[in-house]
Amino acid sequence: MSQLYSRVALIGLGLIASSMALAIRRDGLAGEVVGTARSDETRRIAEEIGLCDRVVPTVAEAVAGADLVVLATPIGAMGAIAEEIAPHLAPGATVTDVGSVKRAVVEAVGPHIPAGVHFIPGHPLAGTEHSGPRSGFPELFDGRWCVLAPPEGTDPAAVDKLAALWRAMGSQVDLMDVARHDLVLAVTSHAPHLIAYTMVGVADDLRRVTDSEVVKYSAAGFRDFTRIAASDPTMWRDVFLTNKDATLEILGRFTEELFALQRAIRTGDGDHLHDYFTRTRAIRRGIIEAGQDTDAPDFGRAAARK
Ligand code: NAP
Repeated sequence: MSQLYSRVALIGLGLIASSMALAIRRDGLAGEVVGTARSDETRRIAEEIGLCDRVVPTVAEAVAGADLVVLATPIGAMGAIAEEIAPHLAPGATVTDVGSVKRAVVEAVGPHIPAGVHFIPGHPLAGTEHSGPRSGFPELFDGRWCVLAPPEGTDPAAVDKLAALWRAMGSQVDLMDVARHDLVLAVTSHAPHLIAYTMVGVADDLRRVTDSEVVKYSAAGFRDFTRIAASDPTMWRDVFLTNKDATLEILGRFTEELFALQRAIRTGDGDHLHDYFTRTRAIRRGIIEAGQDTDAPDFGRAAARK
């Protein structure tokens, strides 16, 4: 694969940035990968495991001379970082991000981007419940979607180049406007995470079911909630604070449907339950047919352990 950027600066060295560093360096997609993170400890680990070509202590040093800058911190930190890096950005550079919410990032980062620098918000729809510089792996983006949300009037050549990088890292790329992105993600990711957090919290509160029973019988469904509910608390706090409207809209609908199911159970309306579960089963089939999950029993876990 040929080199697309001469210097990529990664701000934040967590799951997403470390996976990007590994994929970019594996395939020679950039001349150099420079990284920085907030804490000495994270920068020390990044150096120790050789994540980047160079690890530097400040965001200003990281972006100097970079033709691609990737904001890969929790969303709530991005506005202040954008303000700090603005005077150090190279003319013609592209600034992108990987945040899970887009409108809030555009509002926080956009005003700081100087003329002559391209700003192309992005979101790779790939992740795990792990965080930090050791959690990355270069295959994270394989077969997943990456959404780019360039504001109107963005230079198409800059968008094409960033899309080429994501494709080279294994992703498929879609362009979407920020409002659409935030609504779609509220349905597919943000509301499900909140429901998982709630379900695990409820089990924790339910002292009638002892802890050992919860753990022992978790494969009956609960285990999959616990994996999602183990996700990084800072990242998810920021997702809900910044995608408030779309998440509340979906949760409103969710609550109505939950009440309808609750009523069907109370009144013994088996037809309602059966019809509902038939519809949801078809959605699962669609996801498998689109190659976004495996239909192996146990969600492919047994195969993944081999
Ligand atoms: P992570 O593993 O939790 O790591 C966050 C990184 O950001 C850490 O290296 C942290 O440094 C650094 N950081 C935090 N505040 C900073 C600041 N003010 N200046 C410089 N660095 C700072 O993060 P992640 O899971 O990769 O998530 C990063 C972004 O990707 C988030 O916006 C998230 O919404 C998005 N995203 C995540 C997933 C996922 O599944 N995890 C999927 C798609 C998109 P220290 O370690 O020194 O604190």
